[in-house]
Amino acid sequence: MMRDVSLLLSFVTISGLLTVAEGRTYIEAFQEIQDQVVWPCPQSPRDSIASAFGPREKITSGVISDDFHRGLDIMGSLGDEIVAVYGGRVEKIHTYSGGGLTVILRHWFTEGVKDVYLLPDKEPTDRWYTMNMHLDGIAMHPTENRELEQYDTIEAGQLIGYMGQSGTASNVHLHHELRIATRCSLEWALANPPPASTCNLHNFDPMINPMLCYKHLTDSQYQKADVSQKQELSPQPDGDYVIAMHDNQPNFNSILFEQIDADGNLVQSHLLDLNRRYGYDASSEASHNMYEKTKPYLNSNSFGLSATHWDINFIIPCIWVPSKNVGDMFRITIHSIWETEETKNEFLVGNSADSWGV
Ligand SMILES: [Zn+2]
Repeated sequence: MMRDVSLLLSFVTISGLLTVAEGRTYIEAFQEIQDQVVWPCPQSPRDSIASAFGPREKITSGVISDDFHRGLDIMGSLGDEIVAVYGGRVEKIHTYSGGGLTVILRHWFTEGVKDVYLLPDKEPTDRWYTMNMHLDGIAMHPTENRELEQYDTIEAGQLIGYMGQSGTASNVHLHHELRIATRCSLEWALANPPPASTCNLHNFDPMINPMLCYKHLTDSQYQKADVSQKQELSPQPDGDYVIAMHDNQPNFNSILFEQIDADGNLVQSHLLDLNRRYGYDASSEASHNMYEKTKPYLNSNSFGLSATHWDINFIIPCIWVPSKNVGDMFRITIHSIWETEETKNEFLVGNSADSWGV
């Protein structure tokens, strides 16, 4: 009982000292700190991403299946430096069977002020984590004659380790994750319910697109998503619409698919949100890996694509369109990480004379 009272008092004190903060979305919160965040691989340019955050093909013993890659794979050479992307502390250093030698860092938006929302119906948070996997070694402490250890304080840009191929990795790379609110995955939380573990009581998957914390490339480096010249409007043999698009940075937050009639009225819509996993099959709740493929979804990228050749297909399955009148169109609105009025991407696909449907 005493413990509860002291917690309540400390909360009142904090509230009394600070202006009551309005809640922020996770997108707004990361935009506010992007100027201070550094890229984790000083020797690897921003287009060294071999596998982006999002759907991709998983190859196990030669069998290809759908997967959701919940981090970035940044290519480099054995022994390349890995640095902390932001200030904080070493949360954990551990060797995992899959992730290999891993350094987990904890960072705060504003320590003690829980005002950042990932999901509107969940408790807001004040913290985020970066996971750095497949390392070859751990950096030395900057002033003491020892390697970094749990709870050491870390500054942005500080050396934390060296790139490697430990764990399950087919080549030398950094698997880099951004997790919000908790470092524990949903799979872990479901497999280790309280009281065994209380590290993820939010019942959501904390991995979000790591590109969220990095600054927009300069205009000369960044090309706006090129969709209009890539779209393929003819129905595929299986009856689904496939729209190809190309971008040079994997930066989707969400994609809204809408069917609109000739008068501009909305017939139906479907939202895919990669970070919040809207549009995923609830039957695969444990991993949230699979899209609901009876509704519009993104195809899976194969491994080994460079971000300079980052292509993805939007699929509109014919089963989602039980009827399509002459003049109906699809409107696709892409919300990207660095969205502005100029980069906002909304386009129409469909043939006004086409009465395709099932
Ligand atoms: Zn990876």
